[in-house]
Amino acid sequence: MKILVVDDSRSQAMLLAGILRAAGYEDIVEVHDAAVALRLLEERSAESGECDVDLILMDIVMPVMDGIEATKRLKENPRFRDIPVVMVTVRDEVASLERALEAGAMDYISKPVNRLELCARVRSVLRFKEEIDRRKARERELEALTERLEQLSNQDGLTAVSNRRRFEEVYDKEWLRAKRDGVPLSLLMIDIDFFKAYNDTYGHLRGDCCLKAVAEAICIVLKRPGDFVARFGGEEFVVILPGANQTWAVAIAEEIRENIRSLEIEHAASVAADRVTVSIGVASVRPRADLGPKALLEASDEALYLAKTNGRDRVEVRETP
Ligand code: GH3
Ligand code: MG
Ligand code: MG
Repeated sequence: MKILVVDDSRSQAMLLAGILRAAGYEDIVEVHDAAVALRLLEERSAESGECDVDLILMDIVMPVMDGIEATKRLKENPRFRDIPVVMVTVRDEVASLERALEAGAMDYISKPVNRLELCARVRSVLRFKEEIDRRKARERELEALTERLEQLSNQDGLTAVSNRRRFEEVYDKEWLRAKRDGVPLSLLMIDIDFFKAYNDTYGHLRGDCCLKAVAEAICIVLKRPGDFVARFGGEEFVVILPGANQTWAVAIAEEIRENIRSLEIEHAASVAADRVTVSIGVASVRPRADLGPKALLEASDEALYLAKTNGRDRVEVRETP
């Protein structure tokens, strides 16, 4: 536990530090100027953003900057706000003591300092600080956990791309945005060809590996920040291309199809090719008031069906109404 003693009187600072050292507190820093104390705190916390001082014993009356002003500045700074400040004051400074408490000081002790009183105050304030630190650490843990949970609830466990739930959210948002901005929106519905046969031939585990590889191959093609991919279900993926018209969307779809082909994942049971291939349905639209997001989704699904019936391993387009 680090204690900072701020007192312009060297002898007074030494006295305080001496009592505390004798009581077993080893890490004590004495400073004789409040501005220097503030600078020291800044320096010590600059790198980590965390302050390692657990308690400040602050004299009230000091030249240049007094203890009240220094306390005020500490409490204004989020980095130092939680360091307890105990004022050290002579008995007749009642008015300034009131201001010090207003400025955020937690407690005070009177000069001349009584050894027992000082130690008792310091002990209880440090215990309080420890509790604050523990609570803050717990809060941080909780925040990290919440973030992780949120991430997991948006993610597909196998392929690590977004899941269907996340797709619904993003798709609705992108639809509204495209409608507002008057720009096109495209969807690609991607389905692995003869995947049941792949599982039957190579086993479910290799099927899983294949799904992961396909997801990665899709991701590699998507380069713009708004482009989005999710696992739509089983062996089906969906891609949102905000701002992309049909020509652009078809080009991306072809690139994805090619990229998956070039993985050269053996698939002896496929009727379409000697390797794993995908069929892709493309649909594009300029979102407008008389049309809902469902229409585009259905159009891309119909395009996928067309790609399947036309022989698979291909890209087909479906016009939206
Ligand atoms: P098509 O070319 O018409 O798309 O035929 P298909 O066999 O790919 O389509 P079908 O819908 O008949 O079969 C999909 C298969 O995908 C069946 C299912 O076992 C498999 N599948 C779905 N999810 C997973 C998964 O998470 N892992 C594995 N290994 N297989 C999965
Ligand atoms: Mg399939
Ligand atoms: Mg399917």
